[in-house]
Amino acid sequence: MFTLPDLPYAYNALEPYIDERTMQIHHDKHHAAYVKNVNDALTGQDELASLPIEDLIADLLKVPEAVRTKVRNNGGGHYNHSLFWEVMAPNPDGAPRLAQGDLASAITQSFGSFEKFTEVFSSAGLNRFGSGWVWLVTDKGKLTIVDTPNQDNPLMDLPAQAGGRIPILGLDVWEHAYYLKYQNLRAEYIKNWWYVVNWKEVEKRFDGIPDQVRDA
Ligand code: MN
Repeated sequence: MFTLPDLPYAYNALEPYIDERTMQIHHDKHHAAYVKNVNDALTGQDELASLPIEDLIADLLKVPEAVRTKVRNNGGGHYNHSLFWEVMAPNPDGAPRLAQGDLASAITQSFGSFEKFTEVFSSAGLNRFGSGWVWLVTDKGKLTIVDTPNQDNPLMDLPAQAGGRIPILGLDVWEHAYYLKYQNLRAEYIKNWWYVVNWKEVEKRFDGIPDQVRDA
């Protein structure tokens, strides 16, 4: 059985960039529904239901065809949002947030500069038609930006253990993530979101990827 993780901060902690009401509904209603629905879909499938979520969604062919789409959408929703909460953090001083250390070097190496990276990532989010996500992923020793529809994510293309892409940062561009505060202004939401990126957590994820997987 999968469970809804608590937010690692208060609902209002990401104000003024992301508002309290959005966080409440997003976590307590949307994410909670993904968790409930993936559990419902896997009723009686104890082995699948006890896998780590990233293993379940990275190998969807294991899931019976009758519930595969439900598991893809809702298991994906659970994984994606669990990551999303973690890669954000309050920004009380209002200063821009920048990547540090090895991750900062890798970003410069892959995209030319940190600024160029945020530009390309932001425009992927802006241009993702309809609902979906943008990801920063490690891909054979390099960093790449990928966007996916619905609640899909890069783990679904090719499992990490098979040398696939591992997400280390993700941005939710579903309207439910921003509409209450920003209405149709997705670009404003994305611009402000950079202020609450938790680079320490992103670095931890980047550093935690074993070299043989990262450079495969
Ligand atoms: Mn969402």
